[in-house]
Amino acid sequence: MGATAIVTRFAPSPTGYLHLGHAHAALVAWRLAREAGGRFLLRIEDIDPQRCRPDFTAAILADLAWLGLDWDGEVRVQSAHLPEYRRALDALQARGLLYPCFCTRAEIAREIAASAAAPHGPDGPLYPGTCRRLPTAERAARLAHGEAHALRLDMRTALATLAAPLTFEEHGTRLVCDPAQFGDAVLARKDVPASYHLCVTHDDAVQGVTLVTRGEDLRPATHLHRLLQHLMGWPEPRYAHHALLSDAAGRRLAKRDRAATLRDMRAAGLEAAEVRRRALARTG
Ligand code: GLU
Repeated sequence: MGATAIVTRFAPSPTGYLHLGHAHAALVAWRLAREAGGRFLLRIEDIDPQRCRPDFTAAILADLAWLGLDWDGEVRVQSAHLPEYRRALDALQARGLLYPCFCTRAEIAREIAASAAAPHGPDGPLYPGTCRRLPTAERAARLAHGEAHALRLDMRTALATLAAPLTFEEHGTRLVCDPAQFGDAVLARKDVPASYHLCVTHDDAVQGVTLVTRGEDLRPATHLHRLLQHLMGWPEPRYAHHALLSDAAGRRLAKRDRAATLRDMRAAGLEAAEVRRRALARTG
């Protein structure tokens, strides 16, 4: 394997059993790595203790092995790396790129309802910036008081660090990024020490991922991820977002669709080779 060999990854969140759509995502990443003599990594994105369960992690590993997928090196389990995400947040905070947000969901919803313009981003309505405008003394007092807070990216300050617009490469084409569509994105939640956006870019960097493959529902997130890579000095991977599989009625497959889980297909007597064929045949 040369230094430029491709490194892909499959990064499921253990919030349910894998379904045919996950098999598709895993196979796309696995095949691209294997065909190029590169590396295929497996990462468990389990930072949200409310939604993730260890038994789903075990089931994911078992289902992938049954499917005939092998991965290189150890499985990276995000919940075992919380101090690393903290260090990345500290680095951003030291540069004045983050601010604490004390707002509750209800307060944000009220503020948005009361404002004339309520722009939406890929993660929902944009945060109106209430805590960005807090007087320094009040912010310090609330922090000193130990008040629960999230950490938000100060998008305007972050964008001001750019000499030219960011881009990302997908299938040989360069696309211009619009990270501002996320507003002041949450990088650490009150109840979860780091957000998906921070952990995914951090881990792709430390794991040396060169080609990020994932569903096209996450293409908007790439705009924000490129900004985080720029701010942290992390390398830029290439991207390949794939179509999502849908069921016979044209609805996107979801973890709630029990019938489509790999476990149920296996229990129904389907061979792994047949499930692989179905997962790759139906490209949405
Ligand atoms: N953990 C994410 C998910 O299950 C995928 C992350 C990614 O591929 O960037 O939706």
